[in-house]
Amino acid sequence: MPELPEVETVRRGLAATITGRRISQVEVLHPRPLRRHLAGVTDFQDRLAGQTFGEPRRRGKYLWLPLADGDAVLAHLGMSGQFRLEPADAPLAPNTRVLFTFADGDPGLRFVDQRMFGGLSLSPGGAELPPEVTHIGRDPFDPEFDLAGAVARLRLRNTAIKRALLDQQLVSGIGNIYADEALWAARMHYARPTRTMSRAQAAGVITAATTVMRGALVDGGTSFDALYVDINGSSGYFDRSLAVYGREGQPCLRCGTPIRREPFMNRSSYRCPRCQRAPRRVHGQAR
Ligand SMILES: [Zn+2]
Repeated sequence: MPELPEVETVRRGLAATITGRRISQVEVLHPRPLRRHLAGVTDFQDRLAGQTFGEPRRRGKYLWLPLADGDAVLAHLGMSGQFRLEPADAPLAPNTRVLFTFADGDPGLRFVDQRMFGGLSLSPGGAELPPEVTHIGRDPFDPEFDLAGAVARLRLRNTAIKRALLDQQLVSGIGNIYADEALWAARMHYARPTRTMSRAQAAGVITAATTVMRGALVDGGTSFDALYVDINGSSGYFDRSLAVYGREGQPCLRCGTPIRREPFMNRSSYRCPRCQRAPRRVHGQAR
């Protein structure tokens, strides 16, 4: 799944190219990406024709395209959803699912999705904050992100730190890749119980995640298997800056110990077994 830096890269690209433009026509080429729009494909096409895009917005990994009338197009990128700017006469890329044509001509906007876990839906009244997104916590790039509040909520949870980092209601935008990178930077094991963490330790992990994601944003994000691309189809190049994720068996950049890959929450977790030691059993944990 694309995480905060990848989604923000897409949002910025869209902000520069579709803001203020009037849609003349929407053409849905495959119904599946519209499955969350319960009123159906024709309704989606009819409602969007003639509307004008405001500046695209984001909270965590959730992206929406506000419309001048107060509604919004909610975009779920899923595993492989992409927005691409293309001239109307450009050949369709494989897996192109939705075409937006604008009243002012080229470039048009295309939604491409290979695996189709993503999709588009119209969110009535969702321009400011779609109802589908209200339960999502603010992300660390949000000017109103409250670090002290996030630290307090995290320490109240009876859970493992990585599970807390991935909880989009606590702090949004962090997924598997940047959670592993943040934990390595903070020298913390993914299973460390949050209730044993000091305020400074909790703040340290969230700050590490923020720093890593800011670095990734500068590089245009991380692109494994080239499924996450910007609106011009280019992949980010933060992969080469990753310290642990995807580096099983390679030396830790700090101590040289081979990085280990372990199953956690049905995914892979990467850590340095020396820098990120397993937590000791905490009193009462076995009950
Ligand atoms: Zn190490």
